[in-house]
Amino acid sequence: MLVVPGVHRVPGFTNSYLIESGDGTLVLVDCGFRGRVDKIVQHITALGHTLADVTDILLTHHHLDHTGGLPELSRRTDATVHAHAADAPVIRGQAPRPGADRSTWTGRLAGTRIPPPARPAHVHAELTDGQTLPPAGGIRVIHTPGHTMGHCSFLLERDGGLLLAGDAALHLGKRVVPPIPLALNENLRAVRDSFDRLGRLPFRVAAFGTGAPIAREDQPCWRATPD
Ligand SMILES: [Zn+2]
Repeated sequence: MLVVPGVHRVPGFTNSYLIESGDGTLVLVDCGFRGRVDKIVQHITALGHTLADVTDILLTHHHLDHTGGLPELSRRTDATVHAHAADAPVIRGQAPRPGADRSTWTGRLAGTRIPPPARPAHVHAELTDGQTLPPAGGIRVIHTPGHTMGHCSFLLERDGGLLLAGDAALHLGKRVVPPIPLALNENLRAVRDSFDRLGRLPFRVAAFGTGAPIAREDQPCWRATPD
């Protein structure tokens, strides 16, 4: 499912994305639940690629619906796995999952219902805010903490800018909103700050962990004039 030229959505409860780098290789953004691996592999094959073409796996954050398929996909590729330093220990199984923000009743309720972590997996490279990864003409790392404290969004700078927002923003119905409906946010104040920061970035199209991509001009919640 084409998002913009060279970027494909693997749709599901949680979306993953495949970015064609332009040199015959691919970047995978998020791995979905463990049961999503076959679907991702089918999309790679349909694009005329093999798993060997995946050079990098970018993770927006440590939640199970983004990392469940990581152990298998990491094992079946030679890809470098990237995640922010604040989430990498959770993904590696070296630190427990942080709880939800307990300052709200939904957070206190969710705190007792945290699902189990994904099986541990390697993270080879830790992301930092503002760094630009080389594939696909440059992928800028935007640290957008709050949903998890290591949450990162990604800005593909070619073709006017594609924002891959992960769970730092949701597309529900016709509206783009902060992920406040999700109970497992680790810091609600940071969630709001990160959502506002996304609106100041230079992008033409935005894509999400939840919901369909949108053109920026169709979403009045984000200012028309980026920084
Ligand atoms: Zn999440």
